[in-house]
Amino acid sequence: MDWTDSEQQADFRAQVREFLSGKLPELYRRQAEERRPRGLEGDWQENLVHGTAEEQQAAKAWASALNERGWVAPHWPKEYGGAGMSPMEQFILRQEMAESEAPVVGGGGLSLLGPTVLVHGNDEQKARLLPPTLSGEYLWAQGFSEPGAGSDLASLQTRAVRDGDEYVINGQKLWTSTAHKSNWLFGMFRTDPDAPKHRGISFLVMDMKTPGIQVRPIISMGWEHATNETFYEDVRVPASNLIGEQNRGWYVGVTLLDFERSNIAGAVAIRKSLDQLIENTKTPAAQTQLAGGGLKRQRLNIAEHYVESEVMMNFSFRIISMQARGVIPNYEASTSKMFNSELVQRVSRTGIKTYGLYSNIWDPDEALAPQKSTFTQSNVHSVVGTIAGGSSEIQRNIIATRGLGLPRG
Ligand SMILES: Cc1cc2nc3c(=O)[nH]c(=O)nc-3n(C[C@H](O)[C@H](O)[C@H](O)COP(=O)(O)OP(=O)(O)OC[C@H]3O[C@@H](n4cnc5c(N)ncnc54)[C@H](O)[C@@H]3O)c2cc1C
Repeated sequence: MDWTDSEQQADFRAQVREFLSGKLPELYRRQAEERRPRGLEGDWQENLVHGTAEEQQAAKAWASALNERGWVAPHWPKEYGGAGMSPMEQFILRQEMAESEAPVVGGGGLSLLGPTVLVHGNDEQKARLLPPTLSGEYLWAQGFSEPGAGSDLASLQTRAVRDGDEYVINGQKLWTSTAHKSNWLFGMFRTDPDAPKHRGISFLVMDMKTPGIQVRPIISMGWEHATNETFYEDVRVPASNLIGEQNRGWYVGVTLLDFERSNIAGAVAIRKSLDQLIENTKTPAAQTQLAGGGLKRQRLNIAEHYVESEVMMNFSFRIISMQARGVIPNYEASTSKMFNSELVQRVSRTGIKTYGLYSNIWDPDEALAPQKSTFTQSNVHSVVGTIAGGSSEIQRNIIATRGLGLPRG
């Protein structure tokens, strides 16, 4: 298999590198050099909404540099402010951004809501919702999961009842990530409790300032506020905020979206963290921490993870080569999601074992913190990776049934 760039791809890669070297704000460049753990909250939206003056400035400058080229939403058509990029170009852009550790701008609004509105929204909704999403004026949270509906999402119970020109919403959502730093929400709500469960759901968007919405923080085991519970009490949403048809929301919410799904950024991040671990073990400064650890015992694990990271790269290449041929990845995307999230956890564990008891230091600024506590922190933060976005068990079910053709249940 030859993964080298074609001439055209190499040209595009050079353009992206030149752009990154000229336009990536100094703050992000410095953070990448310092190799500080960014954690769950260390994203562009956090910088924009809750950041220091320097972080807010960097977040704005970075979004506007990308926006000038349509690269905030490389997967959207040009007429809506995207770049209309082919999956392969998106892949190269994501790969180069991950290599530079450049933050991804926009979150769920750009990756999920925008493409959903493009496919199912009417012209008025496209004109009203897409431009402010692209500019960062509308920051979106995703309200799908509920206390009794995660893996079995179609069991969701939060009710939306039509009343004249409005829907009235009552109920609770769980794990509404970024709701505390978003001003709009998209979600699925039950509009027909008597219909079969997939057929009584509608897809609605709403302004988070609408009276009756309450956001309560969930603090993670790494002391971060990344996600929330959200409560809805007589929340009145204009009927013009229904995307697609009433009771067809399940099919709107699970639209197979045509954007790059290789998770190349995840593959690059794992490779970089292994490279940094290996490089650090060779520095004189690390010898104190290594003396307390178990590099000898972890050597084989590090080698094994390196091989696994190569496998992960190849999963990414396989998916992008399918998309480049116009084939929609199915169980292949599940394989990549499951393998990537589990590998991050394995690498984090090996990283902390390498430095032994020094890995108990949480604070990256402590002088003896190995590699700025990066593995200590990622060991905690990566726990959610095998749950959020579809748990590993659900991914294995998909691989078993759709991939291997094994019978269900
Ligand atoms: C940090 C974090 C952020 C999240 N962000 C969002 C968000 O922004 N918006 C949103 O809508 N949701 C979000 N989620 C929700 C996420 O998608 C769900 O947590 C996930 O789908 C699992 O659902 P659940 O938590 O209800 O667990 P359950 O579905 O109750 O599962 C519990 C356990 O049972 C296993 N299990 C369930 N069904 C099966 C089965 N059929 N076969 C085998 N095993 C099974 C699961 O794998 C899991 O181990 C987030 C979750 C987390 C942890």
